[in-house]
Amino acid sequence: MRQIGHFIAGKRVEGTSGRFADVFNPTTGDVQAKVALASAAEIRAAVENAREAQLVWAGWNPQRRARVLMRFLELMRDEHDSLAELLASEHGKTVPDAKGDIQRGLEVVEFAVGVPHLLKGEYTESAGTGIDVYSLRQPLGVVAGITPFNFPAMIPLWKCAPALACGNAFILKPSERDPSVPIRIAELFVEAGLPAGVFNVVNGDKEAVDAILDDEDIRAVGFVGSTPIAEYIYVRAAQTGKRAQCFGGAKNHAIVMPDADMDQVVDALIGAGYGSAGERCMAISVAVPVTKATGDALMERLIPRVESLKIGPSNDGSADYGPLVTREAVERVKRYVEIGVNEGAKLAVDGRNFRLQGYENGFFMGGCLFDEVKPDMTIYKEEIFGPVLSVVRADTYEEALALPTKHSYGNGVAIFTRDGDAARDFAARVNVGMVGINVPIPVPIAYHTFGGWKRSGFGDLNQHGPDSIRFYTKTKTVTSRWPSGIKSGADFSIPTMR
Ligand code: NAD
Repeated sequence: MRQIGHFIAGKRVEGTSGRFADVFNPTTGDVQAKVALASAAEIRAAVENAREAQLVWAGWNPQRRARVLMRFLELMRDEHDSLAELLASEHGKTVPDAKGDIQRGLEVVEFAVGVPHLLKGEYTESAGTGIDVYSLRQPLGVVAGITPFNFPAMIPLWKCAPALACGNAFILKPSERDPSVPIRIAELFVEAGLPAGVFNVVNGDKEAVDAILDDEDIRAVGFVGSTPIAEYIYVRAAQTGKRAQCFGGAKNHAIVMPDADMDQVVDALIGAGYGSAGERCMAISVAVPVTKATGDALMERLIPRVESLKIGPSNDGSADYGPLVTREAVERVKRYVEIGVNEGAKLAVDGRNFRLQGYENGFFMGGCLFDEVKPDMTIYKEEIFGPVLSVVRADTYEEALALPTKHSYGNGVAIFTRDGDAARDFAARVNVGMVGINVPIPVPIAYHTFGGWKRSGFGDLNQHGPDSIRFYTKTKTVTSRWPSGIKSGADFSIPTMR
């Protein structure tokens, strides 16, 4: 059985804890590798190594650091296809979708190439007589990223690119479900010229995470995953005075106004609800048609589309989506569907019995569609994270607006309408972090920032864009005076008051 270890001090190393987790091929259901689970001692060794390497790396000027990122981009592009295949084989998403996972990560590397400009501080000349004030942004030191299974390239890249560009050393603890692409990313960084030890990948589970959280030398942690773990990380990271940005789960609504282009809406809902088997934090999981006529028209169009979704192996480029990540995930999603039925929601399409011929042991599940879901139902309140779309009908715009606004999650939301006034009002008033107007998955572009509100995000600064530079640096403010002429003695009043 193939073993996947760690990447420490610029090379692949085997795990020493003796503990391993299975890495599946979700298409076949087979275990394809064992990944080492790091002990606290292995984390500590990686941190010590990173601490020394960081001092050297931070001494490089920002332009020189940016050149490493530029070279890394070239190497990643050369391997884009094979990396996407590797990613798909562990995650289960289709290869074209895996290419997108990598691409959206590389766009943040492209943004981070601008770091010499992004790190420029502020300067005030003559804040007082002969006094200048300026600010510097300096790296934090060693920082860590803890990332989920569902974007094994994109999210590690969102974390590491700005962190490294700012002069930090980075410890990545990727998901134990799909660890191979993160290790290859680290290897390509070294090939691109990153000094050994600046970027380390340590695989593991709770033991490794807790060791990261408790390590006094790690000064910041960027987390993405489920809400209970995000909250746990946020609280525990604070105990060692770390900076933390922790992004959690989601329940993204799409409001469908009566004037919306219904063909566009249905295409958008099918892609955003079922793409990647619904395992995206920005997936649309709730559709809210406004008025009964809109709801009826929507259901009439959605049902045949959900029934005819093409589900296939992850290497079938023509499939709409592939298997879920694990058997447990399939069972969890099916349990939610059963709860929905028991709570009285109308299951308009039931994909639970889907089997893919030739892949009977794969982690596949057909698309499910619920109608008449109510806000007090479990399937509305909780994140399902599978190919299940719930339709919650609303009589008025205000009723529809209140749903995502009051929901405990606040990651993404979309409105479909031809009315600019409604769209503008919605964007202004909805209590959610990322809003799409006729755009179902409003993931902001790399030079803006990404982050949800309420129980979808803990901490202040968002991922990528200008916030990421602030998150991975600390501000130093210098007040400087170079007196001119001959000084007559001590000054007893505040100089800026003159
Ligand atoms: P997860 O919370 O199970 O795991 C995320 C990370 O935390 C992994 O590295 C895992 O090893 C670690 N972890 C798991 N259990 C832990 C524990 N008890 N103690 C310490 N560490 C632990 O999440 P997942 O299943 O990998 O990813 C899916 C979730 O991530 C969904 O809820 C999804 O909405 C969310 N997500 C959110 C965003 C966002 O930006 N808001 C993006 C992608 C995914």
